[in-house]
Amino acid sequence: HAKKNGKGGYRFYSIELSERAHKRHSLTTRLHRAIEQQEFVLFYQPFVELTSGQMVGAEALIRWQEKKGRLIPPADFLPVAEDTGLIIPISDWVLMEVCRQIRAWQDKGLELKVAVNFSVRQFWQGDIVSKVLDAVNKFGIRHDALELEITESMLSLDPVHTETVLRQFSDHGLSISLDDFGTGYSSLNRLKRFPIDKLKIDKSFVDGIPGKENDTAIVTAITQLAHNLGLQALAEGIETFEQWRFLHDLGCRYGQGYHFSRPVPAKEFEAMLERDQCWTLEHLL
Ligand code: C2E
Ligand code: MG
Ligand code: MG
Ligand code: MG
Repeated sequence: HAKKNGKGGYRFYSIELSERAHKRHSLTTRLHRAIEQQEFVLFYQPFVELTSGQMVGAEALIRWQEKKGRLIPPADFLPVAEDTGLIIPISDWVLMEVCRQIRAWQDKGLELKVAVNFSVRQFWQGDIVSKVLDAVNKFGIRHDALELEITESMLSLDPVHTETVLRQFSDHGLSISLDDFGTGYSSLNRLKRFPIDKLKIDKSFVDGIPGKENDTAIVTAITQLAHNLGLQALAEGIETFEQWRFLHDLGCRYGQGYHFSRPVPAKEFEAMLERDQCWTLEHLL
């Protein structure tokens, strides 16, 4: 009810708006420069097999390291990047960088699967399949070393396009996982029909186990759904030993979370790979 506040109310509102517009504009300018000067870095967080405690892969997660600045998390710049279209050059860089890194690790005899996150706009590019294959071929990495994370919402936007694109990825040996599973709508029919390899159970449900009955029921149901459809289940955001044990006991095979490791710089991740870092359930009992 702006009228009730009189003229001052209107003015306050418009100042706020222009401040927001200004912030957005300056962020956009900084992002342009960040792309030119390659100020982005990828951190890696391990995927862990919950029975053996072994690292079986990693998720690549972008950070923005502004000159002498702090490390900026993706939530602070990806939404604006997505709106302005800058997500495209950023995503192109992510693809190349992750393939370069996989190659460097393969050259050292370190074999593992690395997952990259896809944005909506990136997925909607007409040439997305050839972009991904170009990156993979440029560095000569094994196709099964790359996993693509898409979100549930991408499945429903245009199912025909999505199925075509996913089918091509799958035919080329790339794996596909559904990120933040349970937070969007998924047609069970599409889950069955599309070439999806893995469901990543969203952190918001994992947070509530084992204490909250509803979260426990959802996590159990998603795990069973995944297994019944022949998909892998991975729980996101495991922060405690209790969550790990609970997920392990209910048959969820894979997990990821701060309990094992935060996302770390490539060098640090490489050190974990080299010493064959492993977490043990028994050890802590
Ligand atoms: P996501 O794909 O669901 O990634 C998992 C997020 O949860 C990461 O946040 C990770 O650091 C965080 N996380 C993992 N384990 C735990 C835990 O135990 N506790 C808590 N509190 N958090 C945990 P991050 O790195 O800030 O990334 C946020 C989101 O940004 C990602 O969510 C993904 O949607 C997006 N993103 C990150 N990197 C990229 C990228 O290269 N391209 C695109 N398009 N999106 C990206
Ligand atoms: Mg992800
Ligand atoms: Mg996720
Ligand atoms: Mg998430």
